[in-house]
This record gives sequence, structure tokens and C-alpha cells, in this order.
Amino acid sequence: MKKIAILGSTGSIGTQSLDVIRNTPNIKVVALTTNTQIELLEQQINEFKPDIVAVMNKQKAKLLEQKLRGSTTKVYGGMDGIIYAAANTGADMVITAVVGTVGLLPTIEAINNKIDIALANKETLVTAGEIVIELANKNNVQIIPVDSEHSAIFQCLKAGKKNEVSKLILTASGGPFRDLDKTALEKVTVKDALKHPNWNMGAKISIDSSTLMNKGLEVIEAKYLFDTNNIDVVIHKESIVHSMVEFNDTSVIAQLGMPDMRAAISYALNYPMRPKNEFIPKIDWTKKLNLTFDKPNTELFPCLNLAYYAMQQAGTMPTVLNAANEVAVDLFMKNKIKFMDIGHIIHNVLDRHICIFKPSLEEILETDMWARKCCEEEVML
Ligand code: MG
Repeated sequence: MKKIAILGSTGSIGTQSLDVIRNTPNIKVVALTTNTQIELLEQQINEFKPDIVAVMNKQKAKLLEQKLRGSTTKVYGGMDGIIYAAANTGADMVITAVVGTVGLLPTIEAINNKIDIALANKETLVTAGEIVIELANKNNVQIIPVDSEHSAIFQCLKAGKKNEVSKLILTASGGPFRDLDKTALEKVTVKDALKHPNWNMGAKISIDSSTLMNKGLEVIEAKYLFDTNNIDVVIHKESIVHSMVEFNDTSVIAQLGMPDMRAAISYALNYPMRPKNEFIPKIDWTKKLNLTFDKPNTELFPCLNLAYYAMQQAGTMPTVLNAANEVAVDLFMKNKIKFMDIGHIIHNVLDRHICIFKPSLEEILETDMWARKCCEEEVML
């Protein structure tokens, strides 16, 4: 019986992870966490009977504790509670499905406790990639990507040796605005940005997809996961080819599937086994697939190049990119800035940052706070 903890079980990846577990024998859920959604968490507790749950919002944690009086599930609150849930339940694997930098400390704590990670929280690697990977290597902890592109690359890399890889090719759907021009982009609303054409995802990642920052964060995530700077991005509207690896001999190995996150989640949970997944739709080869590939428009979608810049600078530059993006997306969702402002603001914050190379965890956390403040100043200017 494999024991699993899920950080962020009420979000998009969290609920899809539970659906995979529902359809996979011999997995026991030992811990679940949420930010605020205690009603959904309560349903999950009734179905999966975890030993412990944690709620980031302390008042809601209290409320849930009262409701669960007499139950065998223990309730913890706040960041300490989330960290406890990540590391103290005897889990064999933690699925980090929270959104944003809040995933960093619980992930580090799980790694320190030698628990394998199914990584769905890309911001953790973007903000502190060097530290997290070094720590995982030191503790002999496996980080198995759940992001569909990185799961694809992880699978494709099995076709050759590390020194035979010439480059990684990340596919991008291009998001809901891929066919718009500048005038149209200036007018898009939050509602438009939340409508992703192919994937069923949470709000933050949907906005990130619409700016191409999601792909930028994924380029940095790939750098740390696979230890290379040779990463290309190609627009592939159909989201059937999840990503590819080009080898020295010019062969390209791709991984394909329907755009359904449960496939990548199942791969991470069952690795290195591949169970029969009747619940996930298969590609129907009798229908015309018309797979298309194109280059990204970095003039209209500058966030991708900002991410490449941050990756090349390394040190704390990706930390700043990520924090500024989190704040800019939040401001956009609150209608305080326009869609096209997102890239400009991140650009300005990156410009103001004096990069720290080989930062400590404290320096990363300080830089993260600095970038958030700086981003808010940019909007007030
Ligand atoms: Mg992805």
C-alpha cells in the first residue's frame, strides 16, 4: 500500500489526483491540505479518510475541527500545519499541488524527511530550483514531475543517455489569446483569460498560460529538473504532443496523449509502473489529428523572453520573475492592471533587481518579499 499526502487537494490538480487515486488500487491517502475550501475538504475526508488534514486559514481550520469532532482525522492550521502534513504522516510520496511560492517550505520539509515528491507546484522550482534539487539529491529523494510537459520529457529521456540529449522541446498551447493582435490584446478581460482552450486548470495557471509566462516558468522548471539550458518552446495548439526530446543523432522522441492531467498524475504516482488506466480517454487515431507546430510570438507575449532572461541570469533572478508574476497576475485578476501591463511590470521589477548568485534559502525568501513589494510600487507609480 503506497501512502500519499496531497498538498492543495481542493484545487484543480488536487481533485484530479484524488480521482486518479479513486481509480488506482493500493493507494492510501494519509494527508490532505487546503487553503480555505473546508466544505470540499470535508467531503474528501469522508471519502478518503486521511489521518490528518491541514487548512492554511487558521479560522477555517478551527471551524473544520469543530465539525470533525469525534472523527479519526486530525486537523491542523496555518503554514505550520501544512508543513506538518507534508512531512509527518509516514507518506511515501507527497503531491505538491498548491499554487505559488507557498509550496516551497512544505516541499523542502518533505525532502528533508526523505519523502518522494510528485511535483505539480512549478513555482517551487522556479523560485529556489538549485536549493531544492541539491537537497533532493543529498537526501536521495525522487522528484517526479506532474506538469504534463515535464512528465513527457521525463518519459522521453528514457530513450537515451543524458550526454546524448541535444535539446528539450516544450510544447505550448499558446493559450486563449494566441491568435489575437496587439489591439485586441489590449482589451482582453480576466474572464477571457480564464477560458483555456484545451486544459482544465486553476485560475493562476490559466492566466499564466494566456501570457505565455506559464511556459516561461516551465522552461526554468525544466532547467532545474533536467539540468540543461538547451530548451526550446514550440506552439502546438492541439496539446496532444506534450513535449519532446531531440537527441544528438537528430532523432526526436515525443510523448503524446489526450490533454488530461490525470495521465501525468497517474504516471508520477505509479512510476515506474504503468497500470491500465480505463478512466483516462485515449487518442482516437481514426479522427484527423492535424497536429500543428509554430514559433511563439515573443513580441506580443514578452513574458516568455523575460523567463529566458531570468533563467540565463540564474541566482535570484528567477525568484524575482516568479514573485513579480504572482503579484501582477493577482492585480490583473482584481482588475487593477490591464493584461498588457503584466509583462511590463515584471520587466521593470527584473530591471531593478541586483542578482544574488548562489543564494541561501533566507536570501531567496527575502528576495521574494522584495520583489512583491517592488511590483506593487510599480503599479502605484
Ligand atoms: Mg504544463
